[in-house]
Amino acid sequence: EGIPLVTLNDGKTIPQLGFGVFKVDPDEAERVVTEALEVGYRHIDTAAIYGNEEGVGRAIAKSGIPREELFITTKLWNDRHLDVEAAFEESLQKLGLDYVDLYLVHWPAPKNDNYVAAWKGLEKLGDRARSIGVCNFLPEHLEKLLAEATTVPAINQIELHPALQQRDAVEASLAAGITVESWGPLGQGRFDLGAEEPIAAAAKNHGKTPAQVVIRWHLQNGFVVFPKTVTKSRMVENIDVFDFELSDEEMAAITALERNDRGGSHPNDLN
Ligand code: NAD
Repeated sequence: EGIPLVTLNDGKTIPQLGFGVFKVDPDEAERVVTEALEVGYRHIDTAAIYGNEEGVGRAIAKSGIPREELFITTKLWNDRHLDVEAAFEESLQKLGLDYVDLYLVHWPAPKNDNYVAAWKGLEKLGDRARSIGVCNFLPEHLEKLLAEATTVPAINQIELHPALQQRDAVEASLAAGITVESWGPLGQGRFDLGAEEPIAAAAKNHGKTPAQVVIRWHLQNGFVVFPKTVTKSRMVENIDVFDFELSDEEMAAITALERNDRGGSHPNDLN
């Protein structure tokens, strides 16, 4: 597979297309990730709060794929901002790994106001977290973090799909040299993607599915993306996006679907 690598601000590389496991049942995670690895995914995005790190870890161990060929991300939950070292060790243990490729602060939880302390904790993890970053950081959170950080986050992972493009957060991230990852890239199943006219038109034009068109829109915008599915045929579909290219006009028409339609929590609301 020709999955492009994106170079981060710390010099490390990340496969631009990966596989997300939010809401994958812990009992199903091993099967789902095993199938994703069989299909060709090498970048897996999990989190402590998903409760499925152990299943992800079992799938990695059983796959026999050399560790250096995998890119594994997990995340620090909000109640561990002042307890980073122990939370990180728990995640490593559950994953059965001695390092992760990317460790992220899951939410800023600004009402708790401990995200700068959390970041200082991530900065101390050294080689066991090859890259470090954040999720769900709005410009105001980035500004505060950058004023006190030694290391600029490599990643800001935010909710991003055609109906919610978070242009302020994207601009603030890129201006600081931070790569943007799109979570909920397909709108988390809330939309009938094929009912959105520009998506349907591009799908028809290229002989691809609506989901493939939307994944392509993320990739051509330079975002790192990891759609989730538990269905093997959709795993195959979602990775089969490197044999076509959306035109500038198709890209612009999909971008015009912006309607500030947030599916997840607002970063200032979640504690
Ligand atoms: P997503 O946009 O990837 O949507 C997944 C849903 O889309 C599936 O459940 C299915 O209903 C549908 N789908 C998938 N493939 C399809 C296809 N080919 N055709 C039609 N429908 C299809 O949503 P997500 O899982 O929330 O986001 C992706 C990943 O982002 C997560 O698994 C997780 O790793 C990460 N994430 C991070 C945060 C965060 O706060 N950092 C929050 C949510 C998700």
